[in-house]
Amino acid sequence: MSSIVLFGPPGAGKGTQAARIMEATGLPQVSTGDMLRAAVNANTLTGIEAKGYMDAGKLVPDEVIINLIKDRILEDDAVNGVMFDGFPRTIPQAEALSQITAVSHVIAIEVPDSKIVDRICGRYSCGGCGLVYHDTFNPVAASGCDCGNWQEKRRADDNAATVQSRLDTYHLQTSPLAQWYKEKGILHSIDGDRAIDQITGDILVALE
Ligand code: ADP
Ligand code: ADP
Ligand code: ZN
Repeated sequence: MSSIVLFGPPGAGKGTQAARIMEATGLPQVSTGDMLRAAVNANTLTGIEAKGYMDAGKLVPDEVIINLIKDRILEDDAVNGVMFDGFPRTIPQAEALSQITAVSHVIAIEVPDSKIVDRICGRYSCGGCGLVYHDTFNPVAASGCDCGNWQEKRRADDNAATVQSRLDTYHLQTSPLAQWYKEKGILHSIDGDRAIDQITGDILVALE
């Protein structure tokens, strides 16, 4: 078995789809954004270094990210591969990844910039289980999250000002990776501007 990469701009729906694909593939989700936020909350050296970049909507240096991934891939649950969410985000990260583990599929979730601000500014998640919700597009049930431990969480960087710099960063540093993976013959482009279930269906077909 090998690993899968979920690729796309901030707010494309990578985390939303990862939770669903995890059930189908059994591969654990590895989100560098979640790992960095955990490091920031725990006040580790990595977290202290990363925080300023994250608040500004800039990329954390490649070396920091690659070290996180090298450690993560050694954990027991990663033996059959993982599902990367938000990694790699630069060509050097992708080159490093190719030395760390094999990638069989890159799923590019495409969403136009004009839809991204509304998606990000309405995003919240369940602090109990991590499921991602949206104020209008995917609200949590009135009774709270199914996990039974509902706590509303919003990200500090999910504001209109930071979204624009995250989008700029994406176009400048991350989007060239699509062509890079296309040349390797493993890129699958999916229209992410549709209902969540339809997108999941297409991703599962691409993974078959
Ligand atoms: P990413 O992990 O790529 O940043 P998320 O999965 O966190 O993206 O989704 C960003 C926001 O958009 C969330 O609030 C989520 O509920 C919402 N969302 C995800 N997929 C869709 C979709 N297909 N249509 C509308 N909103 C969506
Ligand atoms: P989103 O998908 O909504 O943009 P993430 O949770 O993936 O958000 O990332 C949040 C922030 O964490 C990014 O804006 C960036 O500062 C940092 N980050 C996450 N993953 C990486 C990565 N692979 N390389 C560099 N920085 C990263
Ligand atoms: Zn929950």
